Amino acid sequence: MKISDILKKKKLLVSFETFPPKPSADESTYKSIVDATLELSSLNPDFMSVTYGAGGGTSSNTVDIAAKINNEGSVPALAHLTCISSTREQVAIAVQKLKESGIKNILALRGDIPQNSDFIPPNHYKYAYDLIKELKETTDFCIGAACNPEGHPESTNKDVDLDNLKKKADLGCSFLTTQMFFDNNMLYNFLYRAQLKGITQPVFAGIMPVTNAAQIKRMMALSNAFMPRELLHLIEKFGSSNEAMKQAGIDYATHQIIDLISNDVRGIHIYTMNKPDVARSIMNNISSIVSSQNDSTE
Ligand code: FAD
Repeated sequence: MKISDILKKKKLLVSFETFPPKPSADESTYKSIVDATLELSSLNPDFMSVTYGAGGGTSSNTVDIAAKINNEGSVPALAHLTCISSTREQVAIAVQKLKESGIKNILALRGDIPQNSDFIPPNHYKYAYDLIKELKETTDFCIGAACNPEGHPESTNKDVDLDNLKKKADLGCSFLTTQMFFDNNMLYNFLYRAQLKGITQPVFAGIMPVTNAAQIKRMMALSNAFMPRELLHLIEKFGSSNEAMKQAGIDYATHQIIDLISNDVRGIHIYTMNKPDVARSIMNNISSIVSSQNDSTE
């Protein structure tokens, strides 16, 4: 099912993000990721997305896992697709595989530019804009795009970044999904500025439950996300105990989500890190709140 059609039926959507096994994964790692993915699908999110290696490295696993979510998990799948390291032929092959697997939704991304000095970009695509334009002109997929409430790290300023987001949105994206953020005011400020620019697409707010202190430090370095003092304090206080950090992280994410829903966001996108127990706890914490928003629309 297309996400654009789900958006027509429901006031509030909740989605999960998963990642596929690396191409080098052995059989047991592959199986444990498939099991986690199917367990996540049993929690009935509105759709589940599967990430894609910027270098195209996980492409076949992205399609495989997305197809499993769609066909075995009975949850609509959103396949991520990056373009910066790909040729037009490689993108065409990936798109054909997605079509053949019955996937209806693509999150069209540029991907991060590989930092290894021997990387020579094929230069077939410069921005996500180029990929979205091609997909809109040549396919019938429902297309989503990424956005950054705190500005993309390569952008000189947030206003220019929003102008670039508007160019993508105007190609006919059905929705936008945000980078993770930990301070809801960052999102509210972004939504306000996006509205002023005339960006009207539904926005999925990206929520990363902080359940592992070491992992979040790595992610912070990559994403530049602002960490509120309250969250830093939780990490400092509970980061050395896995179980305590998990509980505190689930609680923090739950509070963020409830506040977002109470301020009428259209979608919550949970970066699950393939952890069904974390996603289950959050879904239990918000189940009545989510139902209360959709009861009148379903
Ligand atoms: P773009 O929209 O192309 O933007 C990149 C930069 O170029 C920005 O600074 C922007 O302001 C500028 N720009 C954009 N368009 C123009 C234009 N027309 N003219 C001039 N400047 C322009 N990475 C992966 O490798 N795999 C994934 O699966 C993946 N999933 C993601 C999911 C989400 C929800 C998000 C938010 C990010 C994801 N990423 C993923 C990371 C993403 O690839 C990086 O953030 C990447 O650096 C930018 O991708 P983009 O699609 O936002 O790029």
